[in-house]
Amino acid sequence: MLVSSPAGAGKTSLSRRLVADYGSMILSISATTRAPRPGEEEGREYFFKTRPEFEAMIEGGELLEWAEVNGHLYGTPKGPVLAALEAGKDVMFDIDWQGARQIAEKQPDDSVRIFVLPPSWADLSRRLHARAQDSIQVINQRLALGKREITHWNEYDYVIVNKDFDRAYADLIHIYRSERMKPVRNPWLPPFVQDLLDEKI
Ligand code: 5GP
Repeated sequence: MLVSSPAGAGKTSLSRRLVADYGSMILSISATTRAPRPGEEEGREYFFKTRPEFEAMIEGGELLEWAEVNGHLYGTPKGPVLAALEAGKDVMFDIDWQGARQIAEKQPDDSVRIFVLPPSWADLSRRLHARAQDSIQVINQRLALGKREITHWNEYDYVIVNKDFDRAYADLIHIYRSERMKPVRNPWLPPFVQDLLDEKI
């Protein structure tokens, strides 16, 4: 599942909560060249890389997708995603529209794109200021970037307006559980149904 939104609309909290509640899903931890924010830890929010290190990952074909966002490079390391899929797990990606598009193009039948919108611009701005993680200048940059991100809302399969976290989270669970029940995601179904049909009445 790919979740995008403007910064501050709640996609990170929503996606991390889903991964915490559902053992069937793991979170893809991205690599980035941006500096850690206060409270962020290596390997938990991101793998923090220098630009040469990141470029070496691109060269080495280690990234499933990558994009430049607000002057920094962000990308999804391939290894953990492939290992999780191999183990039959679902993967949650908290990435921007460029990354979501690249992954959906590679895996059109197996990606679900969700866009999280804020209930209002004032709300988004308030949330970013309340986080107190960034300077005013950086917040303004992130808001401007958020407007550009929102213009891609229509490329997504589902849209959640995050007015109330619990409600938005319930919507996210509904999407996940419904998508999980699609026959294409349950290869055990054909033999199971065959067994049902083979049983004598
Ligand atoms: P932030 O710096 O606020 O953590 O993230 C900035 C933007 O980069 C967010 O929209 C976030 O979803 C996006 N992002 C994070 N990781 C990746 C990634 O691996 N690939 C892409 N394309 N975007 C990412």
